[in-house]
Amino acid sequence: MRVFKFGGASVKDASGIKNVYSVLQTVGYEDVLLVVSAMGKTTNALELVIKNYFDKSTELKSSVQEVKKYHNQILIDLFEDEKNEVFAAVNAQFSDLEYFLAHNKSPNYNFVYDQIVSFGELISTTILSHFMNFMGIQTQWLDVRNFVKTDATYRDAEVDWDLTQANIAKNVKRQILNITQGFLGSDPNNFTTTLGREGSDYTAAIFAYCLNAESVTIWKDVPGVMNADPRYFENASLLNQISYREAIELAFYGATVIHPKTLQPLQKKEIPLFVKSFINPLLKGTSVSKGVDLEPYLPCFIVKRNQLLISLSSIDFSFIMEENISEIFALFHQFKIKVNLIQNSAISFSVCVEDKFDNFNALNAILSKKFKVDYEQNVTLYTIRHFNDTAAKTVEENKIVLLKQVSRETMQVVTKEV
Ligand code: ADP
Ligand code: ASP
Ligand code: MG
Repeated sequence: MRVFKFGGASVKDASGIKNVYSVLQTVGYEDVLLVVSAMGKTTNALELVIKNYFDKSTELKSSVQEVKKYHNQILIDLFEDEKNEVFAAVNAQFSDLEYFLAHNKSPNYNFVYDQIVSFGELISTTILSHFMNFMGIQTQWLDVRNFVKTDATYRDAEVDWDLTQANIAKNVKRQILNITQGFLGSDPNNFTTTLGREGSDYTAAIFAYCLNAESVTIWKDVPGVMNADPRYFENASLLNQISYREAIELAFYGATVIHPKTLQPLQKKEIPLFVKSFINPLLKGTSVSKGVDLEPYLPCFIVKRNQLLISLSSIDFSFIMEENISEIFALFHQFKIKVNLIQNSAISFSVCVEDKFDNFNALNAILSKKFKVDYEQNVTLYTIRHFNDTAAKTVEENKIVLLKQVSRETMQVVTKEV
């Protein structure tokens, strides 16, 4: 079986969805399982709905309306005939969303977030599945929440592999084109959970692992994994082949083309991952597998913006040692702040972090009781794998370098715009 993942960019409008059909015609769809994300920027639009809901904003209704209007236009462009049952199916999903907004009593932000944001994937797969049927491809729509079981850590759920494996092995039919949602799962009480933003790649890997799939292909708006994000680097080149190890490193440092959790399950069973262009599906793209680290061998650039550089120093000139460091890290973990770089000296300790869940103020209140805390917001972290002098110069030019760290393979620089 092959697992294909189509992300938001590939299904952002009617022509994108028609293109998915044509990709399937080109590369075949027998014994394939499709994992699909919410359309375009729907997840962001639903995040706005959630914000309005909690703020009790008067904009709540109009923000829901925006999401409806966007999907409705896609439906009209795809099906024209409003008698097609997909219109009723999507309407029913929006009614469920509105019912939830009207009746929910839970004050738990993360729980509510997952119940709402999940409609993006439920709706996109409903539309895609109906469209495939409309075009003559028979499909099986699977509610991923009956397959991927997780704990109840809303917005960042941990997969229960044993239950998930059992569900997938028992209930996924082969031969037919299966379509399911990326990003979602369900907890022991069957409430919806999500695997973390951009988590659909990970869903594809979960299914591939449990199905012993022959390969996973993620279809992208770029030719494959490149040595830099082509949005920010003019001369980015395609990497034809990279090892699981290299891919894990690139994804870990922030190359957003692959979600970092995707690689481990694939590597365990040596299932190859292909990253290919949905615009030119016959091009080879990138193959991620066991073997050569990197072909061609080029410096790889990764940019992470909107980082926070925190420096802690002891108030009384005492050393910052193992004991303090473990305490500091326990706090980062507790506040779900991701540490991307660490540097320490005798009496100070610097970290470059990402505060995805806006928890820094709460953390700072605790840290400030024990340490002198300095911080710089909105800095950029550049990572260069396999760096050389020219590559280093490119990222340092015309910027203020706040911190730099060099190891054998990897150079990291925290910068600020001049
Ligand atoms: P999806 O639609 O699957 O969610 P994303 O937009 O999340 O797709 O990922 C594709 C984008 O990743 C590309 O448009 C590109 O700008 C960005 N990207 C970041 N780093 C790289 C890289 N090293 N190689 C290719 N693309 C990259
Ligand atoms: N729709 C989700 C997101 O935008 C998951 C994904 O696209 O991978 O984060
Ligand atoms: Mg994405």
